[in-house]
Amino acid sequence: MNPWSIHIDDSFSRQLPADPILENHVRQVPHASYSFVTPKAPENPSLIAFNHALAEEMGISDGTTLPEDALSYLSGQQVYPETHSYAMRYAGHQFGNWAGQLGDGRAINLMEITHDQRRYQLQLKGAGPTPYSRRADGFAVLRSSIREYLCSEAMHALGVPTTRALSLVLSGDQVLRDMLYDGNAAYEPGAILCRVAPSFLRFGNYQVHAANNEKEILQKLVDYTIKYFYPEIQSTGKDAVLELLRTVMLRTADMIVHWQRVGFVHGVMNTDNMSILGLTIDYGPYGWLDNYDPDWTPNTTDRQNRRYRYGQQPYIGQWNLAQLANAFYPLVEEQQPFIDILNEYREYFQMQLDAMMRAKLGWQIEQKADSDLIMRLERLLPQTEVDMTIFFRELAQYEKAKTYRDEELLDPIASAFYDMSTVTDDIRSQWITWLRDYLQRTQQEEISDADRAKAMHQVNPKYVLRNYMAQMAIDDAEKGNYTLFHELEELLKRPYNEQSDYQKWYAKRPDWARSKVGCSMLSCSS
Ligand code: AMP
Ligand code: MG
Repeated sequence: MNPWSIHIDDSFSRQLPADPILENHVRQVPHASYSFVTPKAPENPSLIAFNHALAEEMGISDGTTLPEDALSYLSGQQVYPETHSYAMRYAGHQFGNWAGQLGDGRAINLMEITHDQRRYQLQLKGAGPTPYSRRADGFAVLRSSIREYLCSEAMHALGVPTTRALSLVLSGDQVLRDMLYDGNAAYEPGAILCRVAPSFLRFGNYQVHAANNEKEILQKLVDYTIKYFYPEIQSTGKDAVLELLRTVMLRTADMIVHWQRVGFVHGVMNTDNMSILGLTIDYGPYGWLDNYDPDWTPNTTDRQNRRYRYGQQPYIGQWNLAQLANAFYPLVEEQQPFIDILNEYREYFQMQLDAMMRAKLGWQIEQKADSDLIMRLERLLPQTEVDMTIFFRELAQYEKAKTYRDEELLDPIASAFYDMSTVTDDIRSQWITWLRDYLQRTQQEEISDADRAKAMHQVNPKYVLRNYMAQMAIDDAEKGNYTLFHELEELLKRPYNEQSDYQKWYAKRPDWARSKVGCSMLSCSS
């Protein structure tokens, strides 16, 4: 029985040790990498969205028709024939503190499909409790599931490594949530997302075995990771472990450089939310920069320390890698090579960040003085509210050969300023100086203005999922209207294109969204 005619290859559950207990109750699970668990069947599920393009890529549909019994499998009503669903055991550091065993509290892995030499793990999020649900219910609400669906697909289209979204199902059941943790709990519609990635392994999966002295399982997991996801690593023994760490280090750095490029703030960079494949994973209280502000975080739980603010993400990447290094340590038992890899992160990150910023600024050649000009811009941007997306997009308008008078020098980027009246004479003169230096530097580029603009438009998106846009789609969806959800889904498939029909989404955050819940303030409650 194989209704979708797919090739199933459940490598993880086959190769790693299972929890022998099959009963689904909350517990500490020793000496295992996962626990078998069946999704809780929703009463009356309905399909909100199905990602036909992804389904076709995975070989489960022709790109237009829904696979047989899709709703039933994607809602958790039925487990696909001859597969065994399970929740992974992992641990993690949350907000800098060791939190012990966490695990898939509301994620259930369905199966691994291989197609065209690629591996796709299907995972339901919000399909009911697991042994790792701790004090929570295992469900997810519609608002957070919409946010994950839209954002993970938007990130994919932006070229940012990410988990994907295959489907979104309204469960038909109500879920109780205290959204702002202020004692005002209310029922909200429940939803189930099916997400897809080659693997959902996180730093925390390695941490849990290291912390519990399960060295043998740890080694098995490392070997498994290399065999299936980093086959380019040819060395063996300790060298292989170190090479894995170094490769994960490079991938993590690349991912965060992308986040900085598009203005994405993850919001909860705990080690259990760091993918071993360098994918953006676990879309919770994430947000997008409207005005460029390195101190901004959308996560209300993190408002005090701002540990996970935009400007801090590169450092947290390194901190998290240090925790992964600690987890790998028992397999190597030598400090220096780990220290070297973590130090290399700094250098590599800076190099990639500079290259990314040069691309955003439209420079193809590399000059020594570039870093200084970039640093000055990063200091200037937050002095008044300047929209990050619009600023970089409009910057492409400057013409190399044109002589600008001081009064007109800011004109091409004027639409990025939230309130020109807050631009003091001093700030204006700093902008004029910077723009003059920018133009002078840009004149040294050989490519034409048109070619430069084209290249800039491929790294500076025109459309991102601004926080208020997602919230508008959620407000409508909670009333049963998914039109805006689908409109945003379409829009964000081509974030670098002009898309004249959707011009209205190329706009600064409206004033009403400045401090609205869901738009600039998000909690972990989901
Ligand atoms: P997160 O902050 O979403 O990365 O979640 C941290 C941990 O809490 C993970 O182990 C999740 O599986 C778990 N968790 C979050 N929400 C729920 C929920 N509604 N039910 C069960 N576990 C949850
Ligand atoms: Mg998580």
